[in-house]
Amino acid sequence: MTGSAPRPPRRSVLLRATTAAAVAVPLCTAGWFGWRALDHSDPAGAAATATAPAAAPAPTATDRPGPADGTTAPPLTPPVAPPPSTAPAAAQTPPAGGAGTATSLAGRTVLLDPGHNPGNSAHTAEINRRVDIGNARKECDTTGTETDAGYTEAEYTLDVSRRARAILAARGATVVLVQDGDRPWGPCIDQRARAGADAHADVALSVHGDGGPAAGRGFHVIMPGRVVAGKADTTAIVEPSHRLGLLLRDRFRAATGEPYADYVAEDGLDTRSDLGGLNLSTVPKVFIECGNMRNSTDAQRMTDPQWRQQAAQGIADALTAFLTTQEKTEERHGS
Ligand SMILES: [Zn+2]
Repeated sequence: MTGSAPRPPRRSVLLRATTAAAVAVPLCTAGWFGWRALDHSDPAGAAATATAPAAAPAPTATDRPGPADGTTAPPLTPPVAPPPSTAPAAAQTPPAGGAGTATSLAGRTVLLDPGHNPGNSAHTAEINRRVDIGNARKECDTTGTETDAGYTEAEYTLDVSRRARAILAARGATVVLVQDGDRPWGPCIDQRARAGADAHADVALSVHGDGGPAAGRGFHVIMPGRVVAGKADTTAIVEPSHRLGLLLRDRFRAATGEPYADYVAEDGLDTRSDLGGLNLSTVPKVFIECGNMRNSTDAQRMTDPQWRQQAAQGIADALTAFLTTQEKTEERHGS
């Protein structure tokens, strides 16, 4: 595919946002909706703003001020290695191509960031509070999207992250989850970004499902752009995160058969400078939007535990390759 899928005029996005709010369909601003909020018709302009404090983001359905007095966020869940008994049987499956052994990741630490939190929808005041992401202020967290049947992005991201943790732990890695269904909401995106450094992680990855137009499907990987503004300085992580992004795109597609997104990004890759979870990270980090939960085909896949295991396998294989090889996959276009 060419990645030049027709895009609706900007006005329709705002109408969509209004509609979404009216029917209470939550949004994941890390994916299509956030991508649409940026001006992707002007790549040069977007690049030029990447290193400067951004203008206030366009109003969206989720743009609501937080509580005036500021809500104190509970502390991040202490990192706890999962007991072996929580590992699904498939976790013992060796990586494709023999890319790792049971101990190949010994001494390495991976931070997994399951996007959103199943409890966020019951804590709107807390998650709507704005936090500093370096070049802007954004909501602490969002509720995420969901399928038509009500399977939420937060449930999906936590399940896939746990499955990936089991695979990586079986390969010897120490795996830390930003949240493990053990806190009522959040954490905020700035805490999610700092969690990599807090855990002394070698690499970090945030799992999401997108809330794009129903006719669009496929997955895409989001890599950090260079941002030097306020608390943010991604200079040191841009290149290694790009390497991780390419590995993730290839391993995820190989494991799941999922096509590149046909409604957002280019050849399954996007670079963003408006995501707090990336801007404030000091360890290599990418996001993956594993599919479009608003699309019936993707929703069916993402609701299937077997497919989620494949998704986790692709994620774990990419992280393993990142940590154990110098492999640098070439960007390919038109595939
Ligand atoms: Zn999300």
